[in-house]
Amino acid sequence: MLQIDAVEAVYQNAIAALHGVSLNVRAGEFHALLGANGAGKSTTLKAVSNLLPAQRGKVTAGSIVFDGHNVGRTSPAALVRLGLVTVLEGRHCFRSLTVEENLLTGGLGRSSSRTELAKDLERVYAIFPHLRDKRRALAGLTSGGEQQMTAIGRALMSRPRLLVLDEPSMGLAPLIVQDIFRQLKRLNREEGLSILVAEQNSTVALQYADRATVLDTGVAVLAGTTAELRQRSDIQSFYFGES
Ligand code: ATP
Repeated sequence: MLQIDAVEAVYQNAIAALHGVSLNVRAGEFHALLGANGAGKSTTLKAVSNLLPAQRGKVTAGSIVFDGHNVGRTSPAALVRLGLVTVLEGRHCFRSLTVEENLLTGGLGRSSSRTELAKDLERVYAIFPHLRDKRRALAGLTSGGEQQMTAIGRALMSRPRLLVLDEPSMGLAPLIVQDIFRQLKRLNREEGLSILVAEQNSTVALQYADRATVLDTGVAVLAGTTAELRQRSDIQSFYFGES
């Protein structure tokens, strides 16, 4: 579904962030992108969702193909229409809109009827029941976990086929992290949603994902099933530290 092949990327300060990243997310797969702080996980996801120019960065080599389309120059909005939707690091919500208004913004790109939007909202509330209780609260006043769920819920409102998430566990309590990953797994299993998640929290990512790719200083150094990677205690301590 998503093929990243030998991608290299630099930022304006000419520091090369990616030196050749290749990874493959199969249709229906839950794929984790792992690696230490600064390994290049966020840069890889920004390359996929064409957000590097906004950071004064660019892809200088390699190719990114989504569903048969070469998407190297496809705008983020067009990617959403193709079915590739990204949830950025840091729980991006419109803080002064309510939770429900935030969710509804995710459906704006489609010409959906009110009934369809209402159905999609119900689907998000079924996944994150907590958001239903908070639907009239200003997103900026909700907890970190609720903001992350709102950000994911908003992405789901655009009906992605591949959901890309950057470090959804960041700054959240372990129980909330488990809850979020459990729901992602459920979407993956029950609805066939393909997922690519970058995570520093390798324990939770290896627990829920099917396969993983490990980055080290801008290079993909390892890929395999999470069952295989969980066995490799040498790799665990070398690449993942204590997380
Ligand atoms: P983290 O979990 O800390 O975000 P990461 O694995 O996602 O780590 P990246 O954020 O992709 O790593 O960073 C890869 C390299 O690119 C690092 O050396 C980082 O300093 C550099 N970098 C990231 N963003 C920028 C930027 N906007 N401008 C310049 N250099 C950057």
